[in-house]
Amino acid sequence: NTPNLANPALFQLQPFVNGQFVAIADTFDVDNPSTGETLAKVGNAPVSLAQEAIEVAHKALISWRAQTAKARAGILRKWNDLILANADDLARLMTLEQGKPLAEAKGEVAYGASFVEWFAEQAKRIEGSVLESPQPGRELLVLKQPVGVCAAITPWNFPIAMITRKVAPALAAGCTVVVKPAEQTPLSALALAVLAKQAGIPDGVFNVITADSARSIEVGKVLCESETVRKLTFTGSTEVGRILMAQCAPTIKKLSLELGGHAPFIVFEDADIDQAVDGLIASKYRNAGQTCVCSNRVYVQQSIMAKFAEKLAEKVKLLPVGDGLADGSVIGPLIDGQALEKVTRHVNDAVAKGAKLVAGGKPHSLGGRFFEPTVLTHANHDMLISQEETFGPVAALFPFEHEDEAVFHANNTPFGLAAYFYTKDSARTFRVGRALEYGMVGINVGVFSNEVGPFGGVKQSGLGREGSVWGIEEFLEMKYLCIGV
Ligand code: ADP
Repeated sequence: NTPNLANPALFQLQPFVNGQFVAIADTFDVDNPSTGETLAKVGNAPVSLAQEAIEVAHKALISWRAQTAKARAGILRKWNDLILANADDLARLMTLEQGKPLAEAKGEVAYGASFVEWFAEQAKRIEGSVLESPQPGRELLVLKQPVGVCAAITPWNFPIAMITRKVAPALAAGCTVVVKPAEQTPLSALALAVLAKQAGIPDGVFNVITADSARSIEVGKVLCESETVRKLTFTGSTEVGRILMAQCAPTIKKLSLELGGHAPFIVFEDADIDQAVDGLIASKYRNAGQTCVCSNRVYVQQSIMAKFAEKLAEKVKLLPVGDGLADGSVIGPLIDGQALEKVTRHVNDAVAKGAKLVAGGKPHSLGGRFFEPTVLTHANHDMLISQEETFGPVAALFPFEHEDEAVFHANNTPFGLAAYFYTKDSARTFRVGRALEYGMVGINVGVFSNEVGPFGGVKQSGLGREGSVWGIEEFLEMKYLCIGV
């Protein structure tokens, strides 16, 4: 049942430790969210293999951090080139295990590679400092050194990019990594491992521990509690982030956390309405609404609400729903049955509390895990959708009268990852841009992620930043040298 790949070697089914795929008899099923069929049986790594991975990563650290930054950069550059050269296969595997339309999967492969390219470049730009001593006869230096062995726990919604965004800066800095990918999408992670080895990333520097959901919890504990692991970098829910943070407390581990969001998307009456409709569609319906930066609350100024809702509904009704490999699909299936249940619950709750459906509203006639792209108007703050991340293709429109009111509601949440607003007024651009309590704000754009901008949240959306010139700092420690001369 091998998927039809140009490079069949990318289809690996076993955890990757010390440069080898380790045969584990105990397996778990990875399914295709579009059909529900089993795609692969993947090795369910025992906790002892996670411990071994930490040990080999610790051994590999000595020679990896001793390589010149230029040498590490060269290897990362090769990994980038191989990812791009195998983009079609990687995208196909991703669509099969994750469900997103093939065009989006290809976009993610390029986006994922962009972090490898970027941090290959940044490896060469790690800089320390020489300080002016307040006392005579002393030289004061600041060195930047790799943190050490890192653990990365990643989610299923971006099976490649969430790994490269963590692993590339870690490796560039001279760290080694043990990755525990999401149980839904281990195949993309294992394919990345094949290419990492081919690129010349030395054995033990990059390890992948695949595990089912129960075993993931045990492996997570081992990674958090290890004294050898110096840093945990995690992308996932706020709920799990909190557990991992607590588990990391005894060893005072360094942490980067990219957690849940509940993005507001504000459309002011001076906005270009067509542009705002397109921006919302990009922000909301990408990956069937399953990204942490997807807008979840759409605030529309009352004077333009009718027009905006009508234009939006018209376009949303036309979004093609279907299997990610089928030509022209724009909305794929949700990841699992629980996701479908949550989206259905959010929509039903909203309708029961007075929302009006202007597009979609129920599981799709295709059946399985497909949900109709949906638009609701007359949303209010008693509805579940106003408080919890929906993670599905549902836009809920909340009316507002004044700018202050929109900003108040936008900020009235424990989350602070991404926000969006549309306006043509430059004073408002700055005023609202500053007032929103979010790590990232898209203004007149619905998609802002790239390797150059610092990605991350405030409040309960997380700690630290990924990508950008700052992303590598998360994997570097400062050391102060005070030298008597
Ligand atoms: P999502 O809601 O996107 O599935 P989760 O936060 O549940 O996000 O999962 C993100 C990652 O965290 C996955 O790799 C998953 O296996 C892992 N995970 C979930 N629960 C735990 C836990 N208690 N300990 C360690 N890892 C966990």
